[in-house]
Amino acid sequence: MRGIMEDMPCVSTRGDGPNGRRVEGFLYRYRKGGEVRIVCVCHGRFLSPAEFVKHAGGGDVAHPLRHIVMNPTRSSFS
Ligand SMILES: [Zn+2]
Repeated sequence: MRGIMEDMPCVSTRGDGPNGRRVEGFLYRYRKGGEVRIVCVCHGRFLSPAEFVKHAGGGDVAHPLRHIVMNPTRSSFS
């Protein structure tokens, strides 16, 4: 399990709606070039990028991945 988590980059987004809040999660790619899912840290739920943006209080966006920031991984320095 630990090895899997290390391959999952930490991401975050902030909804731009009135109830917007910052939500963090882990990016999970099923396979190269395949579907992207994001596991939110608050519920441990698998969400699509669009659902992840809405989870943070954002609205319908055309390119949800552009609203999701990938956090720099610290493990590359260890
Ligand atoms: Zn959540």
